[in-house]
Amino acid sequence: MTRAPGAGALALAAILAASVCAPAQAKWVSRTVDGIMGTRIYVELWADDDRQGEAAIDAVMDEMRHIDDTMSTYKPDSEVSKVNQLAAQQALPISSELFKLLQTALDYSRITEGAFDITYASVGYMYDFREHKRPTEEQIKAALPAINYQHVILDADAQTVHFSQPGVRIDLGGIAKGYSVDCGIDVLRKLGYTHALVNAGGDSRVIGDRFGRPWIVGIRHPDDPDKIITRIPLVDSAFSTSGDYERYFDENGVRYHHIIDPHTGHSASKVRSATVIAPTATRTDGLSKTAFVLGPEEAMRIYNSLDDVDAVLVTPDGKVLYTKGLQPPAGTPNLKTR
Ligand code: ADP
Ligand code: MG
Repeated sequence: MTRAPGAGALALAAILAASVCAPAQAKWVSRTVDGIMGTRIYVELWADDDRQGEAAIDAVMDEMRHIDDTMSTYKPDSEVSKVNQLAAQQALPISSELFKLLQTALDYSRITEGAFDITYASVGYMYDFREHKRPTEEQIKAALPAINYQHVILDADAQTVHFSQPGVRIDLGGIAKGYSVDCGIDVLRKLGYTHALVNAGGDSRVIGDRFGRPWIVGIRHPDDPDKIITRIPLVDSAFSTSGDYERYFDENGVRYHHIIDPHTGHSASKVRSATVIAPTATRTDGLSKTAFVLGPEEAMRIYNSLDDVDAVLVTPDGKVLYTKGLQPPAGTPNLKTR
């Protein structure tokens, strides 16, 4: 039996027709997606045609999912998980994308004098901040010799990775988000977008400005997500903030959090937060862990030596420190921290 369409069906058909035929609009288009790379992704762009803008955001999200599938240690079938399973036994051929990112990660280990080290995971895998789990001192002592970026041997001719000893594990959680932001920006640039922001967790990058005004990013107080301690104007730039408040648990007055000192296997607590500003998000991500491990003075020495880098650090006693390029007005008071 056939039925005449009801009023509801007609109304729906009218809405569909209207949306299909609606003229393209120039406007800011944005979207937030949760759960890629274990974090929240946000993309905002100026689109001459809003529907094409939505499709461009789809393409950025696809790129991020691809990077997550390749680089995640939470996915047993990812390329990085395979490296962790096999690279101590053999020189393992890997994709050129992963090979290049490993090369970049090792470059940042050298630039940061060993503070950034993807082999932190040789101990780091024993922490579970959600479950309040941490390794014992004996477990840390036994696994600590496996932390050293020099254990990661890359052969550029053969495109292989080999770990020089058993027990070595890598994790790209400290650089893959910044890298994915840069890849997202590349996707948008190739599609012709000239005003956009891509954010993944603590890592962001902008192209262009907001029509004559810069993009404004805030740095939060380490103990209060609603309090902004300073705002920074950005045009064609990237920034990353690392904080001890992102993934952590407190036990007997000690904060155990996700940035690990490669020398000790413990959480690195020489600052409460570090924000780095530089041209690419791979660079800002690769540099934002440094101050936690080396402390503010050594980190500032490194940041100030890099012409394209600025940074803002919050120390455990609430001092806010700025690199040469970002000096605040005289007399700015310290923050109150826990
Ligand atoms: P987000 O993931 O929010 O961008 P960060 O940029 O601060 O945060 O990166 C923190 C992550 O970096 C940790 O969750 C861990 O995966 C990784 N990591 C921890 N310690 C180190 C280290 N010493 N060197 C390199 N990566 C690290
Ligand atoms: Mg980061």
